[in-house]
Amino acid sequence: MISLNEAIDLVLAEVRPVGEERLPLLEALGRVTAAEVVSPSAVPSFDNSAMDGFAVRGVDLAGAAHGEGLVITAEIPAGQPSGEPLGPGSAARIMTGAPLPEGADTVVQVEHTEERDGRVFVQRAPAVGSNVRYAAEDVRRGDVVLPRGAVLGPAEIGLLTSIGVEELAVARRPRVAIIATGSELVPPGRPLGPGQIHNSNSFTAWGQVLAAGAEPVLLGIAPDDRDETRRLIARALDEDVTITSGGVSVGDYDFVKQVEDELAVERRLWGVATKPGKPFAFGVHEGRLVFGVPGNPVAAMVSFELYIRPALLALQGRHDIWRPWLTAVADEPVKATKDRVEVGRCLLARDESGGWRFSTTGPQGSGILRSMVLADGLVVVPARHPGGPAGEPHLVVLLEGSRGERPPYPA
Ligand code: AMP
Ligand code: MG
Repeated sequence: MISLNEAIDLVLAEVRPVGEERLPLLEALGRVTAAEVVSPSAVPSFDNSAMDGFAVRGVDLAGAAHGEGLVITAEIPAGQPSGEPLGPGSAARIMTGAPLPEGADTVVQVEHTEERDGRVFVQRAPAVGSNVRYAAEDVRRGDVVLPRGAVLGPAEIGLLTSIGVEELAVARRPRVAIIATGSELVPPGRPLGPGQIHNSNSFTAWGQVLAAGAEPVLLGIAPDDRDETRRLIARALDEDVTITSGGVSVGDYDFVKQVEDELAVERRLWGVATKPGKPFAFGVHEGRLVFGVPGNPVAAMVSFELYIRPALLALQGRHDIWRPWLTAVADEPVKATKDRVEVGRCLLARDESGGWRFSTTGPQGSGILRSMVLADGLVVVPARHPGGPAGEPHLVVLLEGSRGERPPYPA
């Protein structure tokens, strides 16, 4: 058995980016940039007003409160050209976002003015240059607005739209074949016979794969039969990634390892010193990644979180492949068994001093999916931890979000 950290390193050492494709912007939400994005234009592309009010020449402001005021010579709504240059002693009525007329350098907001007989009187003069959004103050032409490896969320989509990008190069979504193994398994929607259970692992994996920006390919159930297992795994090896669940222990019907050996999957590891998640297997076949997660539903999900999710994100060129983590104090004594790192499921809450505390999510058996449903994070307890008192600090790795910093898993 190897350590959690060694297993992660062995997996990531095999990751090669899956390649790219060009997509229209509106199909690129959630995708990852395959190259840095350089702006072809400035934003804003013209000086414009940040307020509804009057565009004026700063030099005219001193005398604009009394006497003659300023003559209103133009009206400039948003979306229109700025018209004639602004002459001395005059003002243009201007709307937010409308282009500043030539000669004007300041906008007086309408609330600070009074209008009479076609003239405007400035009651509170702003500093010269106020209330103007200058060309290129957000983005200059040639600026790198997004690095390579950036995830396109709503803000990124908006930014790209604002600079006039209509399509761009993004990482292809890795295709991930999912196979459940076990003669006891029945697809959802079919009644259970004696000794049978529903195949849930394929669907938790389906969700985890989608949430990681990859494309699940559900290949169904391989009963505990060597030929059928071989047929399905051979099919799976066409995809960028294969995930099998179950059948990787030492039971008489655990054919996955044997079949993968026959199919020339080069084994990189089998067995990690974690609980749950010990019978985890990983190998490569012609550059494709082949994962075997344990059959127990919680163990399968935890293995995905620890190894497969970072790999799927890295395949897309992402740098933020890790979950955020924090240190939280235990509400109850926490111990680890024997020689394995223990990965519990926990709920987080604020403590009185503004830090975090955690409690475990009820029974922690590796088949108890409700322990995952309730969880905010995974608490990772070093092996041979004797079972310290409540109030002890522990590493908690969250089950949402992405960061560039790897959690400090115990050695
Ligand atoms: P295995 O690793 O094949 O020995 O399976 C370990 C445990 O996980 C057994 O109780 C299986 O019935 C259960 N299990 C295996 N595969 C699945 C699955 N796809 N969905 C739900 N439970 C499963
Ligand atoms: Mg099985």
